[in-house]
Amino acid sequence: MKFQQAKLEWREKQPYSGMYDDVYFSSDSGLDETRYVFLEHNQLSQRWKALENDIFTIAETGFGTGLNFLSAWDLWNQVANKSARLHFVSTELHPLSSSDLAQALSIWPQLKHLSNQLISKYDDLIAGWHRFEFDNGRITLTLLIGDANNTLPELVAQVDAWFLDGFSPAKNPEMWHQSLFQTMAKLSTSNSTFATFTSASIVRKGLESAGFKVNKYPGYGKKREMLSGFYRADLVSETSPNKEKHVIIIGGGLAGTSSAYAMAKRGWKVTLIERHPALAQEASGNALGILYPRLSPKDTLLNQIAIHGFLNTLRILQQYPLDNKDFNFCGVLQLSFSEREKTRIEGIIASQNPLVRKVDQVEASKLAGITLLYDGMYINKGACINPAAFCDLLANHPNIMIKTETNALDLQYVANKWQVRDQKCLVAEAPVVILATANDTLSFEQTHHCTLLPVRGQTTLLPSNESSAAIKSAICTDGYITPESNGFHCLGASFLPGDTSIEIRASEHQSNLTLLKNLAPSIQTKTAETMTGRAAIRCTTADYLPMAGILLNAETLESNPPRPSDSENSLVQLSGLYINTGHGSKGLINAPLCAEIIASLINQEPLPVSQKLAGALNPNRFLLRKMGLKKLASALIKPLS
Ligand code: SAM
Repeated sequence: MKFQQAKLEWREKQPYSGMYDDVYFSSDSGLDETRYVFLEHNQLSQRWKALENDIFTIAETGFGTGLNFLSAWDLWNQVANKSARLHFVSTELHPLSSSDLAQALSIWPQLKHLSNQLISKYDDLIAGWHRFEFDNGRITLTLLIGDANNTLPELVAQVDAWFLDGFSPAKNPEMWHQSLFQTMAKLSTSNSTFATFTSASIVRKGLESAGFKVNKYPGYGKKREMLSGFYRADLVSETSPNKEKHVIIIGGGLAGTSSAYAMAKRGWKVTLIERHPALAQEASGNALGILYPRLSPKDTLLNQIAIHGFLNTLRILQQYPLDNKDFNFCGVLQLSFSEREKTRIEGIIASQNPLVRKVDQVEASKLAGITLLYDGMYINKGACINPAAFCDLLANHPNIMIKTETNALDLQYVANKWQVRDQKCLVAEAPVVILATANDTLSFEQTHHCTLLPVRGQTTLLPSNESSAAIKSAICTDGYITPESNGFHCLGASFLPGDTSIEIRASEHQSNLTLLKNLAPSIQTKTAETMTGRAAIRCTTADYLPMAGILLNAETLESNPPRPSDSENSLVQLSGLYINTGHGSKGLINAPLCAEIIASLINQEPLPVSQKLAGALNPNRFLLRKMGLKKLASALIKPLS
């Protein structure tokens, strides 16, 4: 989590790195050099003119000021078909601050229409993986903040063109390591090309020994030579993406609607099936949810999904804002209400996570708008959101057809398509299905092995009163209270594993009111019997990580068990059957990120998270663990086509 931001020096108004004693771009003309070295020598103009509705992926070492990205985007706009999509993945060890980035890009007024869009989304970045979308998803930028030699081996992608930037090998020898070239080879396809400004022999030899054909060309400006070339086709086995772009998604909560959104924006026709008369009627239907990452002091996978999921949801909401009545950017306070929580919060603060800051009791009370008893931490990007409004927003796309009051009960794979049936007849058929059916996932024959745990939760709607109306931020202990919305505060929540009843109980309103007494003693309340609220069943997993990915054929697995040393590619898959579930009470942040992971897998696009994190979400993991196949349980299973 700790890393060093770039410290720029400005020499004759050009950005310069004191740390590496090198320039970010040529002082002759950085833009022309970029176009010459990276765009021309990867033959991008010719290749992009020939695209139809394809995906093209560029990977770069050293994002720096983003000049290469913007130049590629600019050319893409000029030559590529409107239905083709560009993925630009770049890794950066020392990201620029947002103000330095803006200053560096102001040098190029000819790219202003694009750089303004980048600057508006680019925040001071924290370590890890970040995905940004532009032009309604036509351009996707995935930034891997960390050392190229650590991040690229974790990238899941098929790269069509490499931009080998980064400071010169003489000044930055650590980056130009042989393992970098080998990683490039693993991520390359039979069409992959590369280009680099340097002609250093260590780079030429490294690329050749990793399987690239390398050619020398005249360099730009004062540079004598540069290198470009391609990956040798005889070293690659090809896969091809699904032909018919039609997906059925079962379940209209956060997992289902975010899966629908992720597929629809990729040009897929989506049939979204929901058994209730409207979307978000079960666990995603509470009046208000709190949007915040459940952080931990250590860099665990749970911590990573919390951070990436939170930022991912915020970026969707930045792109498609909700009405103020459904979204309140109020910040979230977490109070040190017990010794254990105090230690946890101190650990998070010590980890220097820039999403949080420490607050004492006085500041916490000021931020909350009422007197509080504890110190704590504050997440200023936290918010309160109406989850049902978010679901409606996600499902509002011309490619999505919603079929409500349709109960999908049975799945059969017939002639390369999944057929979905209700009690009586065929409801829909398509080559791909995503199950977003929470605990009901267990009722399908293909997914009965997915260990899922139901947990009942009841929230209480507390009518706003004189003592509570001043609350400005969401406040959390082992319970929570939101600021007033539509005359009520939302209090939560009971937690009853294994209880699947959705009746409203006065005893659980009482336990929510008791939590409130500790959290904010100054709030006046009436008796539990007078309260209204809502009970719903969350769906969680034994390791608290969601399930996201393709399903294996459990019957074949059990009748013909693999050896622990077998590769995950040898496991028999249920072709085209995916699952997005197990989000517990974290659906707002986990579900859209899992949807993006699944959609990227299906479309053979770069994943938005590391291979390790995606592997930890393997939906077959509990079955594989039960069979003693620990390594396969945490492997990322890529769909075979
Ligand atoms: N492509 C950039 C642009 O369009 O502005 C210019 C890149 S600049 C010449 C080199 C970049 O590589 C710097 O931002 C530097 O921090 C980054 N870098 C250096 N070593 C790295 C490493 N090991 N992993 C990732 N990035 C690295």
